[in-house]
Amino acid sequence: MLPLYASADLGGTNIAAVLADEAGNVVAKGSAPTLSYEGPEAVVGRIGSLIETLSKEAGATPKALGIGIPGLANLRTGETLFLPNLITQWRNVPVRGWLAPRLGCDVYLMNDVRMAALGELAYGHGKTVRNFAFYALGTGVGGGVVMGGKLQLGRLGSIGELGHQSIDPYGLTCGCGNRGCLELYISGPALTAESVRLLLSGQAPKLNEIVQGDIGKVNVKVMGEAAAAGDERVRAAIVRAAQCLGIGVANTITTIHPEMIVLGGGVAGLGDLLFDTVRQVVKERVRMFPTDDIRIEPSLLGDQAGPLGGIALAVRAGLLNELDLA
Ligand SMILES: [Zn+2]
Repeated sequence: MLPLYASADLGGTNIAAVLADEAGNVVAKGSAPTLSYEGPEAVVGRIGSLIETLSKEAGATPKALGIGIPGLANLRTGETLFLPNLITQWRNVPVRGWLAPRLGCDVYLMNDVRMAALGELAYGHGKTVRNFAFYALGTGVGGGVVMGGKLQLGRLGSIGELGHQSIDPYGLTCGCGNRGCLELYISGPALTAESVRLLLSGQAPKLNEIVQGDIGKVNVKVMGEAAAAGDERVRAAIVRAAQCLGIGVANTITTIHPEMIVLGGGVAGLGDLLFDTVRQVVKERVRMFPTDDIRIEPSLLGDQAGPLGGIALAVRAGLLNELDLA
């Protein structure tokens, strides 16, 4: 049997884990609730239990475990530094120190979206493209940058915070402390909030029909359906948000001249309306070099980019030799 690797994606509500071989063939998968209010020790313990359960199922202990976390980690020591959305913010939690002895394998940490970009590099578009930027469009907006076939990490493993570039100098305040960040315009919650407003002010009749008046059911998916069914205002809201994303993508292209921009996460499910708008804005706003050969494409891995990224992280021993840290 080939050696197995493990991956865990720590989210605000769920922990998703897989066991796979080096080629990314998944042999076991499972999930557990995060229950972050119980604190870091309980949550890390649940990651351990989840991996043990999957190992039993697969009949093999993984060689290494890659964990994606929603924030910053010290990649060398395997400690979390700052997880802004989890209770206690997880400052200096020794995740590797707790899990490596228990599981009997190496443990590596990385920001969850950088890890998804690594998944795309190892098992998705990265098989044919050596220079790309990855946008994860979800509850928040994160990113990762791959140049010359390598995920770029930088001094803190923090290269690629694409969602926190300023789009509007006078915009709303962002959770990061800046104002007018891209995330405020193209995240799932931003789109949903605008649709709820349209629905409640009588400007989204199709959407109202689809969710049967229940604003709790409004999400990006039903927004797309309402736009396709003829809700012009909902369609316009999606186009406006996509134009903001287009500006961010154009900035990225002008800065690093990649071969491709990969759009992942739930918001990317809006499909052609989103992608065509972004392509149009890129054509208008990138003027320093031709853009005809730069592709804007959906992730090849969909919601598996994160889990498979964890496998790639485990296989590549946390990319420790690629860090710029002194
Ligand atoms: Zn921000």
